[in-house]
Amino acid sequence: MAVDVIRTLRVEPGAAPRLARFDTGTTFGWDKAKAKAELEKVKAELDVLQQRLFAEDRRSLLLVLQAMDAAGKDGTIRSILSGLNPAGVSVQGFGVPGGPEAEHDYLWRAHAAAPAKGRIVVFNRSHYEDVLVVRVKGFAPKPVWSRRYEHIREFEELLVDEGTTVVKCFLHVSPEVQRERLQERIDDPEKRWKFRKGDLDDRALWPDFMKAYEDALRRTSTAVAPWYVVPADRNWVRNLAVAKILLHHLKRLDPKLPEPEEGVEGLVVE
Ligand code: AMP
Ligand code: MG
Repeated sequence: MAVDVIRTLRVEPGAAPRLARFDTGTTFGWDKAKAKAELEKVKAELDVLQQRLFAEDRRSLLLVLQAMDAAGKDGTIRSILSGLNPAGVSVQGFGVPGGPEAEHDYLWRAHAAAPAKGRIVVFNRSHYEDVLVVRVKGFAPKPVWSRRYEHIREFEELLVDEGTTVVKCFLHVSPEVQRERLQERIDDPEKRWKFRKGDLDDRALWPDFMKAYEDALRRTSTAVAPWYVVPADRNWVRNLAVAKILLHHLKRLDPKLPEPEEGVEGLVVE
């Protein structure tokens, strides 16, 4: 029987995932060629639902992607969003806060970038950096970052209450595969721009990051805004898994086309 990736990967509220035990290289028994064909089918369904969401113009969807470097956030975005209508989809990246971002509370920029009605927005990194890198690198003291889990739960609940579906994926890559991909970034002139020497500092802090991720997943995976831990050592598995998760939530959202004006049905254009 086919695995139910939604149930398998979702972090149930209150659960404490152990990231070191997770099989980042799993294929779920999928066949690569079939998975590729299935991804195309899933994308065709996503396209129809996105179009309806846009036409309905009442609700929205936020997909948060978090991961260590080279887990494939960019590749996932490219794979699953290509083919959707660009008018209704956008991607928001979150880097080191600068300018006005640095002068406001940490949720300010996330809230400003949250999707408008009818839209899908993907966060490439997110407000979670403020309990991840900020915690691990000591950019804020513990009393400051430790109260943020509650802020984040309530912020996301607010978004959900006001009509935004919130879905969060942690793309979980193994340190071995990250090493290969970082090396490839260094060696391949087309990829070198993505590499920063600071990536190696983060890599050296792997256990601390995993601990911070485990705490974030445990404390912020809620019934209204669930986390999914997605195996990310194989790009094709990762892409299909995230596409299926997105499809699951769009289907549940079930956007409805607006009613046509009265008397339009059956009208013949002369
Ligand atoms: P990338 O997404 O790999 O292009 O790099 C963005 C960088 O910005 C990463 O190293 C993040 O850890 C960093 N970053 C994102 N948000 C924050 C934040 N709130 N505070 C400090 N660093 C951050
Ligand atoms: Mg990077």
